Amino acid sequence: MSDPTAEVIVVGAGPAGLTAALYLARYRRQCLVLHDGTSRALRIPRSHNTPGFPEGISGEELIGRLAVQARQAGAEILDRHIATARLTEGGFVLSDAQGDEWSARALIFATGVEDVGPGLSRTVEDEALRNGVLRYCPICDGREAVGRAIAVLGGDDHGAAEALFVRRYSDAVTLLALETPAFGPGVIEQLDAAGILIEPSPAREIAPGAVDVVVGLQDGRRLTFDVLYPALGSKPRSVLPLSLGVPDGVAGKVEAGAPLGGPRPGIFVAGDVVEGLDQISVAFGHGALAATRAHNYLRGLDAETLTPAG
Ligand SMILES: Cc1cc2nc3c(=O)[nH]c(=O)nc-3n(C[C@H](O)[C@H](O)[C@H](O)COP(=O)(O)OP(=O)(O)OC[C@H]3O[C@@H](n4cnc5c(N)ncnc54)[C@H](O)[C@@H]3O)c2cc1C
Repeated sequence: MSDPTAEVIVVGAGPAGLTAALYLARYRRQCLVLHDGTSRALRIPRSHNTPGFPEGISGEELIGRLAVQARQAGAEILDRHIATARLTEGGFVLSDAQGDEWSARALIFATGVEDVGPGLSRTVEDEALRNGVLRYCPICDGREAVGRAIAVLGGDDHGAAEALFVRRYSDAVTLLALETPAFGPGVIEQLDAAGILIEPSPAREIAPGAVDVVVGLQDGRRLTFDVLYPALGSKPRSVLPLSLGVPDGVAGKVEAGAPLGGPRPGIFVAGDVVEGLDQISVAFGHGALAATRAHNYLRGLDAETLTPAG
């Protein structure tokens, strides 16, 4: 290919993408990060399970620090939404909707996932997240909801599983649904045995306040909770890697083995977009792995690795 824009382009400036950029820059690779400013981490009011921050850290501060560190090491970070990705001879080209293009010898997709919300406006939802009355990640912050009145929104087996997960943190767990709830065999009995209340009347209105959430039900009752966890799933932002033939896995994510590369060498993935645990510490690990694999892939192409005698 003619001179690429960068040796490696990372799509995504969340914990996975920025960690990959830091590693690549420190490997003395010319690295460009392209992102559209929508890291899930930016929505974290305060994370208490990010290793190394015993006092907790906000998502915005964490992303800010990661970006400073990656830039200091030499990575370039540009705010652009990437619409398409294509293969070329010896590399890849990414384009935005305006037709601007960036080329690279290797790509890392760290594009994350998008939470499916309960239908609130973005402004109301962001405010509720900041107030800690709406939460998306019981693994992350269930510990902060100990002894509180918790509602889980999701009238199916996924919602039931999440209700059972948060039951460890509170005796007052209610399972709500947007439609009439429907569970697999034995699930209702298990929820009953765990002391989880199943609300049969669908939730029609969700009104988060500064310290609690009021849920209006179809039958006219209004219930108040300290915390509401939507358990409505998430949409992986996997369209770009899948369009290049990286294998898909469960529920639209990229297959867990894919950091090793898709059908075409030189494509790597990291973070929430990969099957597995959607967590910052996992994203850090994936970022380090993907960057090192991309670096070694290029070293191999450039005959910089040990060649066995023979
Ligand atoms: C409210 C909330 C609280 C959370 N709390 C915690 C916590 O306490 N601890 C914890 O470990 N985890 C927590 N998480 C989860 C954590 O945010 C994610 O696991 C983490 O952000 C994943 O990092 P990532 O880099 O894979 O993806 P993301 O951080 O989501 O970043 C994805 C990046 O890809 C970019 N992107 C995607 N598509 C495109 C495109 N087409 N063009 C350009 N750019 C694109 C986005 O702009 C973004 O920069 C929380 C999540 C939420 C929503």
